[in-house]
Amino acid sequence: MSRYVDELMADVVAKNPGEPEFHQAVREVAESVELALERHPEYRKEKILERIIEPERVIIFRVPWVDDRGEIQVNRGYRVEMNSAIGPYKGGLRFHPTVYLGLLKFLAFEQVFKNALTTLPLGGGKGGANFDPKGKSDAEVMRFCQSFMTELQRHIGQFTDVPAGDIGVGSREIGYLFGQYKRIRNEFTGVLTGKGVDWGGSLIRPEATGYGAVYFAEEMLETRGETLEGKVCLVSGSGNVAQYTVEKLLDYGAKPITLSDSNGFIHDPAGIDREKLAFVMELKNVKRGRIREYAERFPGVTYVEADPKADHNPLWDIPADCAFPSATQNEINGKDAANLLNNGVYVVSEGANMPSTPDAVDQFLSAGILYGPGKAANAGGVATSGLEMSQNALRLAWTREEVDARLHSIMKAIHKTVRETAEDYGQPGNYVLGANIAGFVKVAEAMLDQGVV
Ligand code: NDP
Repeated sequence: MSRYVDELMADVVAKNPGEPEFHQAVREVAESVELALERHPEYRKEKILERIIEPERVIIFRVPWVDDRGEIQVNRGYRVEMNSAIGPYKGGLRFHPTVYLGLLKFLAFEQVFKNALTTLPLGGGKGGANFDPKGKSDAEVMRFCQSFMTELQRHIGQFTDVPAGDIGVGSREIGYLFGQYKRIRNEFTGVLTGKGVDWGGSLIRPEATGYGAVYFAEEMLETRGETLEGKVCLVSGSGNVAQYTVEKLLDYGAKPITLSDSNGFIHDPAGIDREKLAFVMELKNVKRGRIREYAERFPGVTYVEADPKADHNPLWDIPADCAFPSATQNEINGKDAANLLNNGVYVVSEGANMPSTPDAVDQFLSAGILYGPGKAANAGGVATSGLEMSQNALRLAWTREEVDARLHSIMKAIHKTVRETAEDYGQPGNYVLGANIAGFVKVAEAMLDQGVV
């Protein structure tokens, strides 16, 4: 690491104590964009990197609500408005007990570069609360969402900041949040994306992140004259991203064999087919059950309980061709990466945000596999949110085929840009470097144009 990045990181750690995920995300970008800083001395002079790592605004607020027993609960809500150089802040809301400021700053920071890659005019942000929707009644989730939006509504708007879903925020939560925004502001606008299709949502938005991660994998494979057909695939998570990753893998004739949740994972050597996927969707989206039930329902399936003390996740130790981590950050550590490589995996397309630790990323890069980092591979979700914003602005709704075609061409364009940038900077095949530099340069140029703001 150069002295410049060393000093920058020392400053980041000192100014943002106790936020390891944010440090990790900044370090990766800082190391990748050094070559761009050398090529563009004006970025160094104008302190672009120093400015980009400082959120434009952070909002932290109290979210009080009353549970079903009549007891008052207090959660903490956040919105990190990271960068608006190329468009209104855009990024999801996460409701999960692990949410704290550092986690959202890492997600907002990643979002800035990802959104720049989508080809759409979107700035970067992220928000959420340390609220756990798991085990709560619908009425409790509604009261929480209403209280959360009662404060958040002051800070967002269709031209300012347009949140969407993320972990723990699906169509139910977006509905409650939108309802409260509309009630308080007395206006019907596209202030959130991921809305229901009958009230301003876009077709394909629920599918977009998972579909996009598969399109990206297909593009990477094409560079070696291969396709996904017949490939054995490991998928983690069983939420929105994982479900539609499996669906699109089936469209391409691949064979997904795993899914997980925070309690454990299932391994189905016969493959997760459409009927089994329908069972998972009902289990997770309607019954809100656990993935263990899959193994109870279908023969020949192994369920492995998660062991928080283990130094690796046995899901990543199953022989396969491709891996689609689609649960959460840092779910693939160095040992998992080594296991994946030893077991034949040579395509990793990240549906989740930063699912691989720096050690894991280094191993993927040294092995020269087709490794698509989340910033590029999962950008289909926010890109389709951008398409939802366009449809809202036009007061039109595009067909399923039209949105899917746009999503597909955006993923192809992202792949092309990232690949060409990596080549241009002398590191062909390094999608991490390509994604970080391409996203950074676009935002940096806009910041230069707009002066010191
Ligand atoms: P969901 O809430 O729909 O699903 C999350 C899945 O991951 C669940 O199966 C959940 O299990 C599991 N999971 C969550 N946290 C943990 C944890 N700490 N340890 C183990 N498993 C965990 O979220 P999404 O599918 O929307 O998001 C998944 C990932 O994709 C996240 O990293 C998100 O940031 C990223 N992403 C999502 C986009 C979107 O459009 N939704 C866009 C781009 C990225 P359990 O139910 O037990 O908690």
